[in-house]
Amino acid sequence: MSIDIDHFFNILAEEVRDYQVPVVDLIAVQTKDPYRILVATILSARTKDETTARAAARLFKKAPDPEGLSQLDEQSIAKLIYPVGFYRNKAKYLKDLPAALQQFGGSVPDEIESLVRLPGVGRKTANLVAAVAFNKPAICVDTHVHRIMNIWGYVKTKTPLETEMALRQKLPERYWLRINSILVAFGQGTCKPVRPHCDRCVIKDKCPRLGVTPRRVPEAEKTMGALGSSIENPTKKLISWNVNGLRAVEKKGFTDIIWELDADIIALQEIKAMPEQLPAGVRELEGYDAFWFPAKRKGYAGVCTYSRIKPLHVIYGMDIDDHDGEGRVLTLEFGDFFLVNAYFPNAQHGLTRLDYKLAFNRDIQSFLDRLREKKSVVICGDFNVAHKPIDLANPKQNEKNPGYSLPEREWMDNFLNAGYVDTFRKFNQEPEQYTWWSYRFNARGRNIGWRIDYFCVDPASEKRVKGASILDSILGSDHCPVSLDFE
Ligand code: SF4
Repeated sequence: MSIDIDHFFNILAEEVRDYQVPVVDLIAVQTKDPYRILVATILSARTKDETTARAAARLFKKAPDPEGLSQLDEQSIAKLIYPVGFYRNKAKYLKDLPAALQQFGGSVPDEIESLVRLPGVGRKTANLVAAVAFNKPAICVDTHVHRIMNIWGYVKTKTPLETEMALRQKLPERYWLRINSILVAFGQGTCKPVRPHCDRCVIKDKCPRLGVTPRRVPEAEKTMGALGSSIENPTKKLISWNVNGLRAVEKKGFTDIIWELDADIIALQEIKAMPEQLPAGVRELEGYDAFWFPAKRKGYAGVCTYSRIKPLHVIYGMDIDDHDGEGRVLTLEFGDFFLVNAYFPNAQHGLTRLDYKLAFNRDIQSFLDRLREKKSVVICGDFNVAHKPIDLANPKQNEKNPGYSLPEREWMDNFLNAGYVDTFRKFNQEPEQYTWWSYRFNARGRNIGWRIDYFCVDPASEKRVKGASILDSILGSDHCPVSLDFE
C-alpha cells in the first residue's frame, strides 16, 4: 500500500492545528531571534514543552543575548534552567556557547555543518534551528518523524540519519520545514510511540500501520466518547527490554527512546556494564530512580530497573549464589505488586548450559511462587525461550537448538500450566510477532525472529492486565522492547 503524502500532510496539518504547538515553534513565532531559538532548542531535548517554556523565559530574562549569557556562570545557568532534562549538561553547553559563537562572528550560524560545531548541538538540533530560525530547506528528523515515516512505509530506514537522507531524496521540499512540527505534535497526541491511538486517528483508513500494535480503547473512553474522558488513568505502563549492552545502546539514542516511551517502570536486561562505567545521563536517568544488579564479571549479563514510582523495598537476586553472581534477577516491591526483572540464562550452543538453565528456571519459579503468596507478581524479561512454533520463524530447524529445545519448552509449558499468564498472547494470537532477531543475514529486515521476551503475571493478577505489546519499531538492540499496561 503506497501512501499519498500530500493527502496525509493536508489532513494532519489541519488536525494538529488545535494540538499544543511545540515550544520551539512557539518561541519562533514570538521572536525570530536565532539565539533564542537555538537556546530553546537545546533546552527542549528530553524535556516537556511546558518545562522548556518556563526555563527559557527565566534564562532569557537574565541572558537575552550571547553577551548576557557570557556573564552567567555554569551554576547560575543550571539554577535558572532547572528542572529541564539533563540540566547540568545543558548548563555546561550554554556556558560554552558564547565563546563558541565567536568563530562565527558572535552570531548563530545558519548552516547545518556550522551549527553542529556548537556545544550541545547535534544534527537534529542543527536542522531544527536552520529550519525554524533561518527558513532553510532543512529536515529535522527526530524519533517521531523517523518512526511515523516508517509506519507509513514512506521510507524503510533503520536510523533517524538514514531517514533524513531518504527524505531529502523523496519528500517534496514544500514539506521540509513543516514536517517536524506536524509529526512531533501528531506523534505526541495521536500516533504515540507505544500503542498509538489508531482508533481515533484521522488517517486510520489510509495508514498501512507497518509494525504497529494499536492501543486497546479503554472501556471508559468507549462509553464517554473518544476524546471526552478526563478520568485519571490508574494504569501503569511497564517496559522490558534486553538492550544487549547499555553502553552500546546509549550511543544509538537510548535516552531519546526512553523519553519517547514515557513509561512508569523500565526493566532492562543484559546491561553488560557496571553503573560507574556509564555516562551520568544513563546512570541517573532524569525523572527515575535507578536500581542496578550487574554481574560480577565485567561486560556480562546484568539487569537494571528504572522506576518513577518509589518502591517499598528492593530484592537483589534470589539469595542463590550461582545465579546472583550473574546479575540475573532484580525485584522491586510496590504497594500492591512485585515487579521481577529477569534475564534467564541461554542454554548455549550444543545445549552445554541447559542443566544450569533448567535449575535457574526451577529456582525462579519457586521464588515467584513465594512472592505471589503476598501480593501480585509481574515478571518480565528475556526468558531465552520461544514457547510454541508460532513464536519463531523456523521452528522445525530449531527443535534441538538453545531457546527452543524440548526441555526448555516443557518448562515454559509447566510454568503456564501453573497459572502464570503470557500477557502478550492474551491479546494477540497472530504469527510473526517477534522480539529478537539475529544480527546476521538481515534477519530483522526479513523478520526471521523469535519471541523470547515476555511479561507474565501470576494467575490472580490476570484481571489487572489491560494491554500487552511488542514494540518492534524500536531499534538499538537485537531485541526490541515489550510492554505491559497493568492496573
Ligand atoms: S493509524 Fe495508527 S499508526 Fe497510522 S498514523 Fe494513525 S495512529 Fe499512527
